[in-house]
Amino acid sequence: MRNGLPLLELHRHLDGNVRVETILDLARQHGIPLPAHTVEGLRPYVQVTQPQKGVMEFIGKFAWMQRVMVDLNAVRRIAYENVADAAAEGIDYIELRFSPLFMAEKNGLDPAGVVRAVCEGAAQGVVDYPVQVALIGILSRQYGVDGCWNELTAILRGRGPMLVAIDLAGDEIHFPSSLFESHFHKVRDAGLHVTVHAGEMSEGSPFAAVGLENLWTAVRVLGAERLGHALRAVDDPALMDWIGDRQIGIESCPTSNIQTSTVKEYSEHPLRTFLQRGLLATLNTDDPGISNITLEHEYHVAAEEVGLVEAELTRLQENALRVAFSSLS
Ligand SMILES: [Zn+2]
Repeated sequence: MRNGLPLLELHRHLDGNVRVETILDLARQHGIPLPAHTVEGLRPYVQVTQPQKGVMEFIGKFAWMQRVMVDLNAVRRIAYENVADAAAEGIDYIELRFSPLFMAEKNGLDPAGVVRAVCEGAAQGVVDYPVQVALIGILSRQYGVDGCWNELTAILRGRGPMLVAIDLAGDEIHFPSSLFESHFHKVRDAGLHVTVHAGEMSEGSPFAAVGLENLWTAVRVLGAERLGHALRAVDDPALMDWIGDRQIGIESCPTSNIQTSTVKEYSEHPLRTFLQRGLLATLNTDDPGISNITLEHEYHVAAEEVGLVEAELTRLQENALRVAFSSLS
């Protein structure tokens, strides 16, 4: 709870949130050589200590996490610990997302098995900890059209009842939203919700127009009910009106945007503009294990750095309640 309202997180990658201790432990168990053997020694290799050049450089920090996803027990453990950590943060409801091909590829795991293992780990987590959880399967753009078909097939084959939505994430510059129209037909036919990472680039970026096009395609063609980041929406009032009229949620993650250099200063983050226009913006961590943050930290940053007043922080919580993919019980 926060200020008498439930605390919700809607945008967190469980495969970007592996405890440093768990990386060390799994590496030790399976004889994987690491560049360091203590938590503090390993931290600079798996966490962001200064802003990266862009989203893809940021994603490089995932490498050691991916390396220790050695088998389905490791995958189950990572999902379980994500639930435990969310409960420890005081979160009441969390949507955890993951890319099964990403989790499977380094160690040749079966992607549908990965989906099952994540669902099992999360299901055990909610038995043991006081937090509600829903899962989101990710199609990672950089695997291309065929790879994303494989990823979607694995998700549909392996999913349990906690998995309620599909996301599109990854390299949106080389793999625009328009490539994935037929995938999301299938997603909607399966009765799953849709969220799409799009418009995650900086103001004035040479790719800003691509980001804007990806946003329009996400809402008009893919059926996105929520948008991840949506930073470039601020460049297009017609798009913001569209998003507002249809009550599409926005998943904002300010610290992640600073660390990927897509927003230069917290004070320039479009979150404030979104709220002022009455859009259903929410506050999230993205990859807290890599950013070394908590959701509470993001609320602190939203107040102190982005400059939101208390009523706006409350609005973020109310918006999350409105656009969550499962209702809170
Ligand atoms: Zn994300």
